[in-house]
Amino acid sequence: MKYIYNFSAGPSMLPISVMEKAHRDFRNWCNLGSSVLEISHRSEEFLKLIKDSKNDLRELLNIPYNYEILFCHGGARGQFSAVPMNLTKKNSQVDYVCSGYWSTKAAEESKKYCQTNIINVIQKVNNIKYVIPCQKWNISLNSDYVHYCPNETIEGIAIYEEPVLKNKHIIGDFSSTLLSRVIDIKKYSLIYASAQKNIGTSGITIIIIKKILLQKSKNLIPSILDYNVIYNHDSLFNTPTNFSWYLSSLVFQWLKKIGGIKKIEEINIEKSKLLYQVIDSSNFYKNSISKKNRSHMNVVFKLKNELLNNLFIKEAQLNNLYALKNHKIAGGIRASIYNAMPLDGVKKLIKFMLYFKKKYSE
Ligand SMILES: *Cc1c(COP(=O)(O)O)cnc(C)c1O
Repeated sequence: MKYIYNFSAGPSMLPISVMEKAHRDFRNWCNLGSSVLEISHRSEEFLKLIKDSKNDLRELLNIPYNYEILFCHGGARGQFSAVPMNLTKKNSQVDYVCSGYWSTKAAEESKKYCQTNIINVIQKVNNIKYVIPCQKWNISLNSDYVHYCPNETIEGIAIYEEPVLKNKHIIGDFSSTLLSRVIDIKKYSLIYASAQKNIGTSGITIIIIKKILLQKSKNLIPSILDYNVIYNHDSLFNTPTNFSWYLSSLVFQWLKKIGGIKKIEEINIEKSKLLYQVIDSSNFYKNSISKKNRSHMNVVFKLKNELLNNLFIKEAQLNNLYALKNHKIAGGIRASIYNAMPLDGVKKLIKFMLYFKKKYSE
């Protein structure tokens, strides 16, 4: 079989051991003689999977018991609508901290439902982009919540500081960073993430929400986006995406086995550090994000001679390094190195970067 390293931003690569387990289970899950795709979400076996996956996630992220975990549909985009629909009242104001593409998209969606204040937190000094510290965010006095995105998947900009804003609910779109590093759940009122970046495959969306926010809303909300309805049906209001849930559960087990979030965070820091070192130590590659805001998940860079970007991507692919092209709004190169990307994949990419540099320098 052809073996590649897949740097796709999402859906992205899964741990090999997880794929092999899924392969072994495929026709005969839990010795039922059928696949997990073909059984009822209300069967004893699937209900056990649900229970175990919740417990595993709770353990991995140290989620306190005054928080509920919901599994739902619609991806992160679904949550862009669900968050304001569920959590605002008539005449509410909300704050959206914008640090890139996805946080801006979330704000645009919110505008449909309530007064949405945009807070731009990106600044540039000597052409280097950075995120201004949370204490300087221009938060409104009367906003119901503050929404932000700790990892901008396209720009490769991360906010590692966990926002502490007095008397504000903090809401985070963690789609491309959940499970990649230790976070303090207590600092947030609601966290959501679609699965296809760092958790499993597309289809399922995870919400971690403070229980006090699960009260019935007065707003007209489609039931499948209504947190209260999802909670009251134990995340089975309508048929879940069995396979995506199952794959996520295998990823949780894999993470526990390799040592949990603290361990994977160390590996992620190491992987990204190696890549940024190669970028910074050359006059050939460039990344213009301040060191403290560089993503450990999505390492973006360009070649100084931008005419070579596409050639880089093409030649990389011939060397079995896949999907390095960044989103068209950003251009250039993006190496998405989520939890499942082994250190070896990063080393292979670095080797290729050094080779390419040598070949095309001067
Ligand atoms: C991918 C991504 C999204 C969009 O996710 P969907 O599941 O396609 O809706 C939103 N936010 C972030 C940070 C992302 O990385």
